[in-house]
Amino acid sequence: MKIQQRQSKIPVGISQCAMGDPVRFNGGHKHSRVCTDLLSRVFEYIPLCPEVAIGMGVPRKPIHLLVDKGDAPVDAIRVVGVEDPSVDVTEPLRAYADSVVPELAGIRGYIFMQNSPSCGLHGVRRYLDNGHSIDSKGVGAFARRIQQHFPHLPLEEVGRLNNSELRENFLVRVFAYDAWFRYVEGEEWTESEKLPSRIARIIEFYTAYKYLLLAHNQDATRALGHVLADARAMPEDELAFVVRGRIMEILSHPASRKDRTNALMHSQGHLKAFLNKEEKAELQQLIDEYRRGHKPLSAVLTLLRHYLPRSPHGFIHSQVLLSAEPAELGLCDFQ
Ligand code: SF4
Repeated sequence: MKIQQRQSKIPVGISQCAMGDPVRFNGGHKHSRVCTDLLSRVFEYIPLCPEVAIGMGVPRKPIHLLVDKGDAPVDAIRVVGVEDPSVDVTEPLRAYADSVVPELAGIRGYIFMQNSPSCGLHGVRRYLDNGHSIDSKGVGAFARRIQQHFPHLPLEEVGRLNNSELRENFLVRVFAYDAWFRYVEGEEWTESEKLPSRIARIIEFYTAYKYLLLAHNQDATRALGHVLADARAMPEDELAFVVRGRIMEILSHPASRKDRTNALMHSQGHLKAFLNKEEKAELQQLIDEYRRGHKPLSAVLTLLRHYLPRSPHGFIHSQVLLSAEPAELGLCDFQ
């Protein structure tokens, strides 16, 4: 299985205020240039504003998250008016999230606005009914419901995407999640092609991602390999769900230089037999310089790709690690 870049843009949900639309409670917006100028090169956005959609209007009275006590579970919140707590929009926000599930069925990621009682993904401030702030452990009611409907969907907050490494990680996850549906769930196959069995597609997908996964978390990647060694022990749907979940979980760990070096060494091992002494030494030196932080990843990938055609083995040709990654696509530079 050779996983190719998608030719069309990837559908991604986004909080509408991040697009620059004036839908916030105060009539303003929170335009993100990273989203509209940079990531729009690969993403096709589906912008939604849940508060406007449930009829709260613009401008509107502010709302916040209310809990009974400090250690309340994440779902034990009410979304109420700051000035008038009898205005409770918790259920309308959840019902709206339920209603957009069919519209969002094809999304491969969601970008939420931070600190919002509707859209915030982490760390939203929670209050007691006496008006005192108790902690920042809240999740917006709409975001939480979307998370429950799409358990492995890559999610990120707008503000965090200004960080190049977090942006790269989100892109890697979106690309993988999208590739899963195109290859494992068969969206990419044409009727004239003979579709391998689903279990075979799951194993091939893991195989193609193996070195990229190793670069993110070696132990979890090997553990997933053990699950797949006994793939037929599990019902097919359950296997697909478990493997997709584990892959998304592994990719959510930032790839460390040490683990990336290890994955590059594995790649080098497949090519060694086709290199002369000088070429081997040059590649080894480049990987070592990357390990020490003196050379960028792209330098090693370029040389590995240069030697790749010499190998007749499908395994190394299939490796997603060796295909163009977000930084190389220019998606991690932003002036
Ligand atoms: S954070 Fe969400 S609810 Fe608030 S304005 Fe933006 S899109 Fe609308």
